[in-house]
Amino acid sequence: MFDKVLIANRGEIALRIQRACKELGIATVAVHSTADADAMHVRLADESVCIGPPPAAESYLNIPRLLAACEITGADAVHPGYGFLSENARFAEILEEHQITFIGPTSEHIRIMGDKIEAKETAKKLGIPVVPGSDGAVNSETEAMKIAKGMGFPVLIKATAGGGGRGMKVAHTAADLGLALSTARAEAKAAFGNDAVYIEKYLQKPRHIEIQVFGDGQGNAIHLGERDCSLQRRHQKILEESPSPALNAAARAKIGETVAAAMRKLKYRGAGTVEFLYEDGEFYFIEMNTRLQVEHPVTEAVTDIDLVLEQIRVAAGGSLSIKQEDVTFSGHAIECRINAENPRTFRPSPGQITYWHPPGGLGVRVDSGVYQGYRIPPYYDSLIGKLIVHGKTRNECLMRLKRALSEFVIDGIETTIPLFNELIQQPDIANGLYDIHWLEKYLAKS
Ligand code: ADP
Repeated sequence: MFDKVLIANRGEIALRIQRACKELGIATVAVHSTADADAMHVRLADESVCIGPPPAAESYLNIPRLLAACEITGADAVHPGYGFLSENARFAEILEEHQITFIGPTSEHIRIMGDKIEAKETAKKLGIPVVPGSDGAVNSETEAMKIAKGMGFPVLIKATAGGGGRGMKVAHTAADLGLALSTARAEAKAAFGNDAVYIEKYLQKPRHIEIQVFGDGQGNAIHLGERDCSLQRRHQKILEESPSPALNAAARAKIGETVAAAMRKLKYRGAGTVEFLYEDGEFYFIEMNTRLQVEHPVTEAVTDIDLVLEQIRVAAGGSLSIKQEDVTFSGHAIECRINAENPRTFRPSPGQITYWHPPGGLGVRVDSGVYQGYRIPPYYDSLIGKLIVHGKTRNECLMRLKRALSEFVIDGIETTIPLFNELIQQPDIANGLYDIHWLEKYLAKS
């Protein structure tokens, strides 16, 4: 087992990882920018290192500085969390070159899954169903038109290097295609420095259902069921739940086993999420995330498995501590992402939290890196916490969520809590009848 883990992240996820390390008796190193000197993840770590000024490129994304922090503190492993360098194959490789363990998959698997076209081809070869679309990148409008007409409109143009919903444009008709193609390319170039794009059939009313997988890198892999992340705004998740209201046990076991078998073939190591769109009873692979997800606590709630602890165990060379037949799913869990944003315009709302009262009680978990008096810096993601509730049934879970939201008080900044208060009153949410377009439509008409 490791002696000391450096956590190359900030906010709630840095704290989440620290907690797992502490329970394993592993010393922790926090890194931080000058803007985060007072952050909770810094206060609670055993040691901390300032790695640079506020811009992420000069701190949390700066590989030489992170390496120096490892060297100074003698950390023998790095947990990247999510975002930042968590899916940077080069970072994983450089750490290994320096005999520091990257708590995650091999750099090769990160690279394959980071290129969406290669990921799709790999998924197809491994027997995972994919969204119909172009075979690889499209190079011209003529080529794009031929493929789109072959499949039928609407189609979606997606960036090969995509992430965070960027570089994605819908063409509803042939007349839209040229503009969709050029704007997707421009957006992809600006965001990822790579303007390669491909085409997919645009599904009209799918749900976003993802499968949590776990491998030991030696050919053993299991699945931990699904999360339904269909409630999205601009392709960004805001609420996640497990199990999905749209799946039954047989459908879950079938897709779960398909994915677990693929991960065994791949000899995948660590935690991963295989994302699908689900429409009319069919699953279509869209991408794989080779890291811990924001919404992992939903799975932890229904399986009672600590995903971060398992990540650390497997990275240290251990085998999986759980067999597929030992995985049981109990009750229902929902997570709400609490963002420091205006609940209507979603404009970021950084600033000082003048009052902070998180909810508690049975089945309520709050993962957050903030505290009363904390000043949210304007430089990073606006996620300030996650509220995760668990109940025996979906109905109990919803009632508990309503109760927990009513207890949650955050003053001084705007948050997404009022939006969640509203959403849980909606019959479609109560009945689990929503697809990936539901929230956008709701926001447009209310
Ligand atoms: P990113 O990596 O940028 O998040 P994804 O491929 O994971 O991109 O897609 C993000 C979201 O975009 C999905 O959850 C879904 O809402 C929407 N989406 C992606 N592909 C399609 C598609 N073929 N049809 C309809 N919606 C899609």
